[in-house]
Amino acid sequence: MTFQLPSLPYAPDALEPVISSRTIEFHYGKHHQTYVTKLNGLVPGTDFENSTLEQIIMKAEGGIFNNAAQVWNHTFYWEGFSAKRGTAPAGKLLEMINRDFGTVETFMTKFNEAAVNQFGSGWAWLVQKNDGTLGIVSTGNAANPMRDGLKPILTCDVWEHAYYLDFQNRRPDYVNAFWQLVDWDCIAKRIG
Ligand code: MN
Repeated sequence: MTFQLPSLPYAPDALEPVISSRTIEFHYGKHHQTYVTKLNGLVPGTDFENSTLEQIIMKAEGGIFNNAAQVWNHTFYWEGFSAKRGTAPAGKLLEMINRDFGTVETFMTKFNEAAVNQFGSGWAWLVQKNDGTLGIVSTGNAANPMRDGLKPILTCDVWEHAYYLDFQNRRPDYVNAFWQLVDWDCIAKRIG
């Protein structure tokens, strides 16, 4: 299977000023594209020739895992944003956040802590567990929570390449601003 870089569901400048078109040019156009290109170079001749991205993430190790997971993680990250502003958790998702974290504000505070405290490169995630409840985890490098039996619902990329052009070393400012971009109508559809 040949993997492709998916199109962004918005214009390159749609996320400004939080994520500039310059960051899109590099983060989507170079980094994300490179994971796709590398994966397509690694898979031929392996057991994963006919596997989906998700199947590769669940089983592979080393470079194939890292590139497959980074392709998936970035697509999931980009698709969680939109040019809309000011959406908020609603309906069933809001009920679940209130049930499992107390309030939306508490949820966002805990998510921000996970994102800021992830040492080095990685990701912060809102996940749904097998029992249906929500949780927050952070993962290092390319790691994806589905490998631990958790369903990803929302993610924030905290690799420096995600924010350095716009926020330099100020990861907390990027993480705080990230919420302006989240399209909660999209996120709500990911709940199982
Ligand atoms: Mn990234």
